Amino acid sequence: MPDVFADLVGQDEAVAELRRAAGAAAAVLRAGAADRAPALIAAGAAGETAPGTGDTEPGALDPSTGMTHAWIFTGPPGSGRSVAARAFAAALQCTYGTGCGECPGCHTTMGGTNADVRMVVPEGLSIGVGEMRALVLRAASTPSGGRWQVVVIEDADRLTEAAGNALLKAIEEPPPRTVFLLCAPSTHPDDISVTIRSRCRVVPLRQPPAAAVAEVLVRRDGIAPDVAQWAAAAAQGHVGRARRLARDPEARKRREAVLAVPRRLTGVGAAFDAASALIEAAEAEAEASVSESDATERAALETALGAGGTGRGAAGAMRGAAGQLKELEKRQKSRATRAQRDALDRALVDLAGFYRDALTMALRAPVDPVHTDTAALAGAGAQKWDAEGSLRRLEAVLACRAAIEANVKPRIAVEAMMLALWKG
Ligand SMILES: [Zn+2]
Repeated sequence: MPDVFADLVGQDEAVAELRRAAGAAAAVLRAGAADRAPALIAAGAAGETAPGTGDTEPGALDPSTGMTHAWIFTGPPGSGRSVAARAFAAALQCTYGTGCGECPGCHTTMGGTNADVRMVVPEGLSIGVGEMRALVLRAASTPSGGRWQVVVIEDADRLTEAAGNALLKAIEEPPPRTVFLLCAPSTHPDDISVTIRSRCRVVPLRQPPAAAVAEVLVRRDGIAPDVAQWAAAAAQGHVGRARRLARDPEARKRREAVLAVPRRLTGVGAAFDAASALIEAAEAEAEASVSESDATERAALETALGAGGTGRGAAGAMRGAAGQLKELEKRQKSRATRAQRDALDRALVDLAGFYRDALTMALRAPVDPVHTDTAALAGAGAQKWDAEGSLRRLEAVLACRAAIEANVKPRIAVEAMMLALWKG
């Protein structure tokens, strides 16, 4: 059985650091098992020796051993930030302190059922302060399994300012057995506040090479090598996206529709049509991904609220119920918006890959194309547009992504992009 780090593709340095840290954490537990609660040294003080923690104190952590209370995993989407955080959480709960993949600590963490590991996966556009306060409170309790309380916050860049402040307080004075694992695209102040960053150790992940992604698709998912290679290249280092492309015919169809866009841009009308098609495809994809869970959640809440109840107190209960249903609808709407943005962004990344291929071909750069299946089309574009025209088109796609990120209405940004792609 492979250990918990096996799925972390092409990240040898990060894995080595996490293994060291897990070993150090296990040593802290062993030393502290005597009777004294172990004291970790906060990351902000890493490199300095806290006063009075000479080498005589049992259970105290020497910062050079690599364990600390708060970590940030950074890297481009699909590089495996949350995979790394989960694997590290498992290694911390591992009976052997290695992330063996076989013991109950590893198993329950990887399966999402470990009572001392909480994964926060924001579904909407932001993580609010209420959610964060509740989390911090629970994280302060003694770990029931006797090891660590681990809180994994995926997309920590979506913390609201107030939520960030609540988290910061917990990271500044961490309970002795609590570990926070944050995931964010980068340590840029737009993604994570400077004060939180200063309290965390950063584990940078890189975009894994296509060969490494293909290898894991073959080994773990049993995908045929030629399909794995194509999917890994087309997904541009995004492991989850590569797996979806290799396995899901719908995902392949959507990608093909996106890559047909450059061919379809024959005039102004066609450009607006292409914009509508792209937006509607993203909406349909998002709708498909959230509608099932929306219905399940609503049914569960209605059951919990005892919908249809009569008798004394029912009227008051119904008023409370209406509030809760409204709250749920708000959350679902936020999640749907997020799903639409994500779907649209995936399409734009595919499109950017196409124009990038045209650019590298126009420059005769010795690099492999992103989309091998549209390489001929990109080659024709390269001849027609030359390097400059290809670059302008690539920039138009990137500008569209930036505009949407800056909250320009997606339809307007996409229409502007399509016109720019058509005009060159
Ligand atoms: Zn284990």
